[in-house]
Amino acid sequence: MCEYNPFAAAQAQVDRAAGLLNLDPAMQEFLRWPTRELQVRLPVQMDDGSVQVFPGFRVQHNNARGPNKGGIRYHPAETIDTVRALAMWMTWKCAVVDIPLGGAKGGVICNPKAMSSGELERLSRAYIREIAPIIGPARDVPAPDMYTNPQIMAWMMDEYCKLLGRSDFGVITGKPLAVGGSWGRDDATAWGSWCTVREAAHELDIDLGKATIAVQGCGNAGSYAAILGQQLFGCKVIAVSDTSGGIINETGLDAAAVVQHKAQTGSVVEFPDADSITNGELLELDVDILWPAALENVITADNAARIKAKIVAEAANGPTAPEADPILYEHGIHVIPDFLCNAGGVTVSYFEMVQNASCDQWSEQHVHERLDQKMTVAYHCVLETARRQQVDMRTAAYLVAVQRVAEAVRLRGWL
Ligand code: NAD
Repeated sequence: MCEYNPFAAAQAQVDRAAGLLNLDPAMQEFLRWPTRELQVRLPVQMDDGSVQVFPGFRVQHNNARGPNKGGIRYHPAETIDTVRALAMWMTWKCAVVDIPLGGAKGGVICNPKAMSSGELERLSRAYIREIAPIIGPARDVPAPDMYTNPQIMAWMMDEYCKLLGRSDFGVITGKPLAVGGSWGRDDATAWGSWCTVREAAHELDIDLGKATIAVQGCGNAGSYAAILGQQLFGCKVIAVSDTSGGIINETGLDAAAVVQHKAQTGSVVEFPDADSITNGELLELDVDILWPAALENVITADNAARIKAKIVAEAANGPTAPEADPILYEHGIHVIPDFLCNAGGVTVSYFEMVQNASCDQWSEQHVHERLDQKMTVAYHCVLETARRQQVDMRTAAYLVAVQRVAEAVRLRGWL
């Protein structure tokens, strides 16, 4: 059996959109590859005095609409093809929410769980020194991703500023508030998702005050999705899960208490006043909104026909397998596709760049208002495209994004 290659999947998605948009072959070929890839080797002194050499990458997919933007991942199984695919998906994500940025991604092959804070700091500073020639607020702006965090972003920003001999905080986003971070970054992904779900509920005539939701995954995206759903809209959160399993209470869970329980015990399971449920059962619950907020490939050709939710809000990246999409569409399930649904994170990262460039700091309320505006407009643009072209929401999101990038490439005279 062929192993799943995310870059091949990403290229297949571009090919499909290019066909529907009638893009010329040169444009299609241009968009299906990154424009620049940098591979680096990072010698790092370890705490025991030895030196280890870590391989790393920075891939820039397309900057026709503005500087490249994308996270940095620290993972032992990182590959150039994963980084390429993620860079390309960032291009489409920025385009669909219409922020003036392109797409990039970075990665270092390492095991951060086995490294001390000092080793991580030396690795992070070494990585930035090597990729410094191709990054900068007007070139390419990294951010946190898998196993990187605000402290790592602060070290990276500091190293870049030392190289330049001046403060240039906008080179990195996802920084701590004290060194140029933005209010509203912590819950940005869930907040943005809720803006799109609110609009979808309105379209489908679902009263959110009476709606039930189930959330798979109780990390950053999932825990805030559950808490905000209850606090902002009065939804009933009936089920939540994590790696160890799930919990259900048909009369409603106190989302904040569940998240606190997980913080104290390491898992949502054994939360009082709730029954156990498996992750598979959670996905098939008869709820108004299903929130896959954990990992990829959980809604597949095997279970798609048993999904009963009216709305699937893809906070996670890639939770729905390509073969499941037509099944959900035939069953009339409204899917808000990942690169639209979870674009709140990069949108607030963009706000962080704007604040850094103007030496300003916005209030949390201002961040939320601007985020709401971006997400709401993007959702309706994709919905309108889906209705006009009679395609599912994911295809419509690709059509919007690829069209916008191709137009910028053409206007700049590249092709
Ligand atoms: P996280 O590491 O904070 O949380 C992940 C959660 O998923 C954890 O609660 C974990 O227990 C749970 N999980 C892991 N494996 C599971 C399994 N097999 N079954 C059920 N639950 C499982 O991660 P996150 O930042 O919340 O990201 C979650 C998803 O959202 C990812 O796909 C990520 O790419 C996507 N996303 C996150 C952001 C963001 O700003 N955090 C932005 C865009 C997309």
